[in-house]
Amino acid sequence: MAAPAIPSLDVPALIPANSHYIGGQWVRGSTDETIDVINPATREVLQRVARGREADIDLAVRTAHAAFPQWRDMNPTTRGNLLRKWADLLNQHGHELSLLGSLEVGRPFRGGGGGEGAAGRLPYYASQADKITGDTLPVTRPDVLAFTLREPFGVCGVIVPWNGPLGMMLNGGAAALAAGNTIVVKPAEDAPLACLLAISLAKEAGIPDGVVNIVSGYGPEAGAALPVHPLVRHMSFTGSPESGQKVMEGCAKNLIPLHLELGGKSPQIILKDADLSKVIPLISSNIIANTGQICYAGTRIVVEDSVRPLVVEGVAERLEKVRVGPWYEDVQMGPLINEKQENRVVTYMNLGQEEGAKLVTGGHKLSGDVYDRGFFVEPTLFDEVKSDMRIAQEEIFGPVLSVMGFTDAEEAIEIANGTKYGLAASVWTNDIRRAQMIVRKLQAGQVYVNTYGHSGVIGAPFGGYKNSGFGRTGGFDTIMQYLQVKSVIMDAGEGGRGRGGE
Ligand code: NAD
Repeated sequence: MAAPAIPSLDVPALIPANSHYIGGQWVRGSTDETIDVINPATREVLQRVARGREADIDLAVRTAHAAFPQWRDMNPTTRGNLLRKWADLLNQHGHELSLLGSLEVGRPFRGGGGGEGAAGRLPYYASQADKITGDTLPVTRPDVLAFTLREPFGVCGVIVPWNGPLGMMLNGGAAALAAGNTIVVKPAEDAPLACLLAISLAKEAGIPDGVVNIVSGYGPEAGAALPVHPLVRHMSFTGSPESGQKVMEGCAKNLIPLHLELGGKSPQIILKDADLSKVIPLISSNIIANTGQICYAGTRIVVEDSVRPLVVEGVAERLEKVRVGPWYEDVQMGPLINEKQENRVVTYMNLGQEEGAKLVTGGHKLSGDVYDRGFFVEPTLFDEVKSDMRIAQEEIFGPVLSVMGFTDAEEAIEIANGTKYGLAASVWTNDIRRAQMIVRKLQAGQVYVNTYGHSGVIGAPFGGYKNSGFGRTGGFDTIMQYLQVKSVIMDAGEGGRGRGGE
């Protein structure tokens, strides 16, 4: 039987070379310098995107600033409807967007689309566009009327990482737009293509030119120019703590608010009464999703000593069977994003052994055959990890699990909370009383009981405690972060009255 045809995409026909999308059109970069976007499974160059600089950011921000009054003052029901139309278009182009996710990020291609399911963020916030209200304030005199207005900021900058580009762009972007702000997106240099295509579809949805704009480029160049631009009034950033810190410095210079979604080192506490037939498959499949390059991946397994051997054996058995390979084959796990990330992950694999953890399975770069063309590593499991080891403290951002044992729940909580991060956590037990006690003590922005991940829930706020960031995406009140409050006090009284003490 002939092998199924590899799905292909004419990327240059969808996304022109050396072009940003500004003011409803493709705009050539201010210089001839470009960035090669490669397929991490094959190193094939997919497109040469613009290497944006301060001048490109300036053009995009000024364009977004000019488009702001029309978008802000539009009937909010119409604004919501336009965002819904954009979501429909993203769904119609779901095949291309999903294929771009495979091509630029390397994830196994499962057909279909919905653009990573990312398009769903738009209707959620679109439905809030015409429900933004203020309050009537109590007054001490009947001739005074006072109320609050919630108003958008103006131009919002959105900086996006490469691991889930479309979703991360719309996490901040959809709420900002529904609130009446305009946006300038800076996608990741490794995976800007799905974002570029998605933004270019907004025009067809009828969203006025200049409301959504995107400038590709490197972080320290195009990215760094965004938070310090005087016309940018709000920033949202998703990425590493190191870059987040730099963006925060930029926001401090510009005195603007910031929403930060950073990294994680999320623990999964497994008590001895947990249903291991559910725990083991979920832990194993979660760590290979997106090749472990997920901010809230449950990378630290904190397990009660009496069931530790069963968990370690069960997870190892599954990881050893994972089919790893390029996105167009029938695989469960693709490559890492680039050579730098591969070196980083392999360094941690070696470090774990040097630190004295027990390597149970994996631990190497894959080589030979198709593997030599891309950035492939083995799913890896370390046992006998100590909480102070670097592999237990630092975000690896690859398919590497660390197992740590405990004897009582307090020790488990101490281990779970014992890193600088606090993005997500889970508790596995059939004892509801112990689950509740542990949930309350965990320092994490999202906590799961007998599951991992927020799928199946609509509107669960997501974001960090501690160094995992601040602000929340995905929730009903996320839109409030993109609105500022104006108190209006109207005095209809006659002149000459005293003020202040009445
Ligand atoms: P990164 O910080 O290297 O890059 C993220 C974005 O920031 C990119 O667009 C990059 O160009 C830009 N950038 C880099 N330096 C900058 C600077 N000085 N000024 C402005 N922008 C700059 O992160 P990454 O490697 O793309 O992504 C991986 C990291 O993102 C991990 O730490 C992961 O946990 C985190 N992440 C967090 C979430 C979340 O929701 N909490 C989601 C996805 C990824």
